[in-house]
This record gives sequence, structure tokens and C-alpha cells, in this order.
Amino acid sequence: MPMLGRQITVLGAGVAGLAVARALAMRGAQVTVLEQADAITEVGAGLQISPNGMAVLQALALGDGIAAQSIRAQAVELRDGRDGSAVLHMDLARLRPAQGWHFIHRADLIDSLAIGARDVGVDIRLSQKVDRIDLTGDRPRAVMTDGTTHDAPLMIGADGLHSPMRQALLGRIAPFFTHQVAWRTVIPNDPADPAVAEVHMGAGRHLVSYPLRGGTLRNIVAVEERRRWVEEGWSLRDDPMELRLAFEDFSPRVRGWLDKAEDVWLWGLFRHEVSPEWQRVLPKGAVALMGDAAHPTLPFLAQGANMALEDAWSLVRSLAETDTLAAGLAAYQSARRPRCARIVAAANANAHNYHLSGVKRGVAHAALRLSGMVAPGLALKKFDWLYGFDVTA
Ligand SMILES: Cc1cc2nc3c(=O)[nH]c(=O)nc-3n(C[C@H](O)[C@H](O)[C@H](O)COP(=O)(O)OP(=O)(O)OC[C@H]3O[C@@H](n4cnc5c(N)ncnc54)[C@H](O)[C@@H]3O)c2cc1C
Repeated sequence: MPMLGRQITVLGAGVAGLAVARALAMRGAQVTVLEQADAITEVGAGLQISPNGMAVLQALALGDGIAAQSIRAQAVELRDGRDGSAVLHMDLARLRPAQGWHFIHRADLIDSLAIGARDVGVDIRLSQKVDRIDLTGDRPRAVMTDGTTHDAPLMIGADGLHSPMRQALLGRIAPFFTHQVAWRTVIPNDPADPAVAEVHMGAGRHLVSYPLRGGTLRNIVAVEERRRWVEEGWSLRDDPMELRLAFEDFSPRVRGWLDKAEDVWLWGLFRHEVSPEWQRVLPKGAVALMGDAAHPTLPFLAQGANMALEDAWSLVRSLAETDTLAAGLAAYQSARRPRCARIVAAANANAHNYHLSGVKRGVAHAALRLSGMVAPGLALKKFDWLYGFDVTA
């Protein structure tokens, strides 16, 4: 389907929305992005971009800039939370060297994507909050909170976790609370620290940490199982003392980090079904869903942004390589849904594996230590289907 001059509206200027906007505009589409925020500013937190996500950034011609702004990761290490001893070391330096594995500040990724989108003519409109999507007419219509409306022949819902587009397609589906909460914080760091993502595992808790921005900062995400319900969102602050108390029996290294935590955010972890419907064709238009709007995931495999990048490439290619909008969108859904469902399921399983206690924990850690000695590459090899996949190939 020719893209030249095609009018497309993208809802949301997050990772998915900005990536798809640039990919569409690079093929000549006229793209408008509607974003609720009044500025493209991002909360301070880190992201891991694995080779499957990096492949898309390279295809978008943003790879070199992202590589320059990020830290190239050397390894992921699983550690015993209490004594800090190594359980498994996974060498990332040799994994897909052409793409690499990168630690990047969310703000830096979003900035690069936004500049990349504007450079190819994307019109990013801020302070545009969608109230609801109307799919009852010939073309999709976004009804904004100020009462204005916006129609488009193709409207892409990249509007995140609480997506109005998802709601228009599926109705309101309540997610279920996993009885886990996560804190995130960024602390000052020693730039001499190695470029390693450390996962410190304890009974019912784990903490992931890696350096950012030339090693001057350190990203921390800490997860605890808990009965009490906590809101699903990124804007709830918490007392740093709560975080310190939850990990008070962890190793001195972890406690040392948490002593430096000042700005701490807390959110409840919910499980959502991967959307059964990713697109709908109307008499004179169509809609598509992507990113967190289509497949919100728990953060235990660090794949939310990577999946969003893959979606962006897949959607644009599916549209470009088919004759009709309907065929393109159907191809996109069949390419993406099974893969994203598999990734989301793998992330769900990781939570359980990190939080073992008692005998199970001793046995699992011993098995991991042994496998690291006899077959050091095996743990990563099991994820070849994930990190070795190149949606742009
Ligand atoms: C702590 C944490 C750590 C993570 N770590 C990683 C990681 O290491 N690697 C990784 O790949 N992923 C990670 N993720 C997941 C990743 O951040 C998300 O999956 C990714 O940002 C999804 O991109 P998106 O564009 O779909 O959604 P978002 O980035 O959330 O963007 C959605 C956009 O839509 C806008 N919007 C929402 N509603 C409306 C509306 N009504 N009207 C207009 N605009 C609207 C929002 O303002 C936002 O700009 C992490 C997530 C968390 C919470």
C-alpha cells in the first residue's frame, strides 16, 4: 500500500507512538501525533534496550545516537539478595554484537525519538488529551477532553497502559492485581562501576539495578510481594524509608544504594490480557493498537519498550507490503500477537523465579550456579527466540 501522502493520526507520544510516527513519515506518510502531556518530558528512570529493540532503532537510523547516549551493557548478573554472592553471570558483550544491549535513560530515548519524528515532518501536538474514541461512524474519531474531535482515515492507539483506544475496541476490562508492588528510583553512582544489570533476589522480593548516563546515575527497580492494593500508575510517590525497610536484610551493597534514594515512586503491578483484537476496519477508515495499549507487561523481562519498537516496525512494514489497509492490519496482528503473548508470559514467569524462598530457593540457586559453570551461555541461549529476533530483517 503506498504510504506517500497518507494521513495517519497516532495517539500518544511515548516509545511506541514516536517510533511508529517516524517509521511512517520516513515512507512519506503525513503523520500527526496527539499527546496529552503539555511537554515531552519523561520521568527519570532507566530502560534496557535489548538487541531486538536496538535492531529497530538502527533501522529508524537512530541507532548511533542512542548508542552514544546509552551505556553498552556487559552482563546481567543474578545475585543472592542477602549475601550478594553471584548466582549466575550472563555475558551480554558477545550477544548480538552488531546491535548490543543498552542501558538508557527514558528521557534520552524519548528525546531522540521525538527529534527523529520531527526531523521527518511529524506534527506532534501537545496538550491533546483523548477522552474517548468513537468507532461507530465511517472513520475513527477521537473525542478530546476539551470537547473537540479529531477524525482520521487511520488512527493508531499508542496511548499506553490506560489506552482509550483499547477501551473502544474491547470495552473496559479490569486487570488483576498481582499482589506485587514496585518502587523505582534513580541515585547518584560511581562512574567506575561496571556496566552490569544486577538482579538481587530474596524471598518474595527482588531488586534490579544498572548504571545510566555515563555511569553517573544508577537506576533501581525493587519489587515486593504484598497483600495491600496499590494503584497502577507511575505518579505515586513513596517514603524512601518504606523501600529501605523492605530490603533491610539485603546485602550491604543494596542497602548502600537504598540509603542514597531520595525521590522514590511506587506502583502496583497488574496483569492484563494481551489484547485479542489489535485492529478494526471501518467503512472508510481503520484503527490499530500497539505498545502497552495492546500488551501491557510486567517489567520482569525489560521488554515493554522493546516490544513497542518491534510493533512500530511491524505495523509500518505490514501496511507497506500489502495491497489494502485491511490486509496490512490483519498481517500486523498475526505477526505481533503470538510473539507479544509469549514475551508477556515469560515476564510473568520471571517474577515467580526471582522470589523463591526456603528449600526451593536453595535448589534453584544451586542449579543456576552449576549451569553457569558447566554451560555458561545456556541461560541466554534459552532466550534466543526473544533477543535474537530481528523484526527488520
Ligand atoms: C519501572 C519500569 C521499568 C521498565 N523497564 C523497561 C526496560 O528496561 N525495557 C523495556 O523494554 N521496557 C521497560 N519498561 C516498559 C516500558 O517503559 C513501556 O512498556 C513502554 O514505555 C511502552 O511504550 P508505549 O509507547 O506503549 O507507552 P508509553 O511510553 O506509556 O506512552 C504512552 C503515551 O500516550 C500518552 N497518552 C496516554 N493516554 C493518553 C490520552 N488519553 N490522550 C493522549 N495521550 C495519551 C501518554 O502520555 C504517553 O506519552 C519499564 C516500565 C516500567 C514501569
